[in-house]
Parts: sequence; structure tokens; C-alpha cells
Amino acid sequence: MRIIAGIFWLLCSMMVVAQPVLEPAGGAGVSFTHADEFAEADYAQMRLLLANNKLQLQKANLWNAPMPQATLFQWPTRLRSNILPNQNASYAGYYGISNYIDQNTGYPNLVQDYNCGNRSYDLSSGYNHRGTDIFSWPFPWHKMRYNEVEIIAGAAGTIIGKLDGNPDQNCAFCTSACDWNAVYVRHADGSVAWYGHLKSGSLTSKPIGATVTAGEYLGVMGSSGNSTGPHLHFEVWENESLTKLVDPWAGACNTLNGNTSWWSSQQPYRMTGINAIMTHGKAPVNTQCPSGEVVNEKKSFSGGDTVFLGSYYRDQLAGQTAAHEIYMPNNTRYLNWSQNLQSTFNASWWYYYFILPTNAAAGEWRYDITHNGVLYRTRFAVGQSMSYTFNGNGSFFDPAQWLGSRMPSIPVPDGVEVLIQTTGANVCTVDMPVIFLKGSKLTVGANSNIRFQQNLQWQ
Ligand SMILES: [Zn+2]
Repeated sequence: MRIIAGIFWLLCSMMVVAQPVLEPAGGAGVSFTHADEFAEADYAQMRLLLANNKLQLQKANLWNAPMPQATLFQWPTRLRSNILPNQNASYAGYYGISNYIDQNTGYPNLVQDYNCGNRSYDLSSGYNHRGTDIFSWPFPWHKMRYNEVEIIAGAAGTIIGKLDGNPDQNCAFCTSACDWNAVYVRHADGSVAWYGHLKSGSLTSKPIGATVTAGEYLGVMGSSGNSTGPHLHFEVWENESLTKLVDPWAGACNTLNGNTSWWSSQQPYRMTGINAIMTHGKAPVNTQCPSGEVVNEKKSFSGGDTVFLGSYYRDQLAGQTAAHEIYMPNNTRYLNWSQNLQSTFNASWWYYYFILPTNAAAGEWRYDITHNGVLYRTRFAVGQSMSYTFNGNGSFFDPAQWLGSRMPSIPVPDGVEVLIQTTGANVCTVDMPVIFLKGSKLTVGANSNIRFQQNLQWQ
């Protein structure tokens, strides 16, 4: 018995030694209230706009009577098509939800969402939040700058309103009236969805009266109008008169349309996970509005360098743990520790750092985090560039054309070398713009072919 207890004690002590619990060097939970406000005057203006457009569309025979058919939404955002959640785990996820509809019509500070929680807000003006706010994360301003998060039609319909050309980098409520950039889509059942706060100039070129299919591009996530940061405000009404609100989320406290979900596949109330793990040359700087964050992403280091390790969560839940591990090129574990996530946040970010020994093994190291049963992995190079080799034939943006299906994130980060090594008549075709950030490198091998249908940009 004593021996078993002794072994048990030894195992426990080994576990403690092997996996210390470390506090992050920096980071924070981010509340992301992402407030927006629509005064009654704004609604009156929108009703007028939609009523005028309706008249025009009726004259042009483009306004159909509502059909008795349910509207079911697909998710209304996506990553730009040339960003792939690749093995760098910089884009394992890209969004979170900051606010649902406030189902409690009282105010102020009387808030209830469809799930009987309080992820919403109201204002002393009497405004109760009437949409779903979907924010990009991490580095929302960076994502906006590079058009990384697109807004797409949740359901097929007709564009019955468009507003564009309004400032899109607002960080607070406007002090005087300010319009947003938005697309309004009317579905076959007559219901109307708003897609608001879009980036100026990014809206679909389709005119009012044109039809869009489910999943069709509408614009880029921005922060126009009354907005405290880049997010999509997605609001649904039973028809263009904007008198009966729809809450697409089925749940016990949805008093608007009960337990009928308007999603083709409704997401859980919390979608816990890691949106990104990254390595940085300096601590990342977050939440600067509107100048943007300083990402400081870096993929290659030398012995003696300090490596910053960033992790960016969506729906971090109190009581969770994250297991961090760093492996050397020979697959030997170099460091590992555990992190206790103590609070629940819509979004959070944490970073650690360590100093590479001066004789650190050259090659590709990796940084793994296991959270909620999911392994997230990123790699960084020591003593060499982080290389990605295109050795296939076809689009630069097709992971299958890259050695090991590993392609760099775009914009190409500091410390990354992109090698183009095609054989024979094979060609690497740059069919969408590629941004190379300072410290990155492009090398085209001898007898290799690269064709530019779009520009390379150096920043
Ligand atoms: Zn909103």
C-alpha cells in the first residue's frame, strides 16, 4: 500500500513538475459590447428609404407578393476566399458574437437574450438591441484593413436598399446623425434582413432590385454608423414596414417567434474555441481604435531572441484549462505548462514569452495548445526562414499545390520565405492579390514559373 501511495505521489509530483501552471505575461478578456444604436428617427428614415425603393421596384415589376415559405439563414459571414484556415492556426476561427437581441423591452439595464442570458444591451434612450452582432477576432481592424471578413447573404432575396460611402472607422456613437453602410435584402416570404456597419466602398456592385443567392458576397465587415468597432449588425424584420422584429435564434426566452429558429443550422449559444495561435517578435498590441492593432507577427527567430506566444479565444469559459507545449525540431518537448482560464468572455487574448537559448536547435519548432479537447498548432523557425514551397501547378491559393499542403498566411508575415519551385510547364498563378509584410521574402527557383494575374504588394 505504501509503495502504491509512493508511486502515486511520485506520479503527481512529476505531473506538477512537468506541467506547471503559469500566468500569462499579458492579455485580457475583451467584453466587446460593440454597441450600436438606432434612434426612432433612424427607423423612420429607413422605413422611408425602403418604402421609396418599394415603389420604384413595384413600377419595375420587381416586387413580388410574399410567399408562404420559411426563410432559413446560413451563417452571414465568411473569411475572404484566399484566406484558408491552414496549419498555421492563425485562422482556426475568425469571429465571435457580442450581442443578441434584447428581448426585455424595459430599460435601462434590463437585458435578456433568447437563451435567457444577458449577452445584449439596452440604452437609457429606450433602445433595446434588435440584432445579432458578429465581430471579427482577433485583430479586427487589421482584418478590416485587409478585407479579411466578408459579409454574405444569409438567404436568397432581392436587394431593396443600399447605403454606401459613409465613414467606416467609427469607434463610438456619432455625436451627430451619421449613416452606416448597409445592404437590405428581402426574401421570398417578404421578410427583410439588414447587413450593417459595412466597410465603405466594399458593397456588392449589384443594384437595388437585383437578386442575390444565399452565400453571395454583400460587402466587407466594417465599423460604419453608430459603431464601437468592426462588426456585422444582422437584423431581421417580418417585412419592410419594420414593425415586427424577428429573432432568428430559437430559445426559451425568445418571445418574438418562440422556438422557431430561422437558422438552417443554429449554432450553440457559446462556441468555445481558439480563433488563432501565433508567434510574435514583440508583444502584440490590441484594441487600438481606429488606428488598428500592431500584430507583430513573426515566424522566424534566432538563438537568444524572445519569442512571444499569442493565443486568441472565442467564448472562453470559466473553469477551462489550456495545455501549452513547445517542441524542438527533433520532436522533443522543450517547454510545457498549463493555463487556467478563470472567467467567461466573448473574446480573450493571452500571451506568454520565452527566451531561446543562444544555441537553440535550428529548424522548425512548433507551439501546440490543447483546449476543450481540440489541438491547435502553429510553427516557427529558428536559425532559418519559415519556408513554404509551392511545387504544384495552379493557383497560389490552392493549398494542394503546396509542399505538405502547407501555405503561408496572407498577408505573408515577417520571417516567412515563400519558395516557388515548379517543374516543367507547371505554373504558379497569382490569381488574387498577395501582400508581403516587411521581413518576408519571395524566392522563385531556377526554371520555375510564376504568372501574375494580380499584383504582389510589399508593405
Ligand atoms: Zn448591433
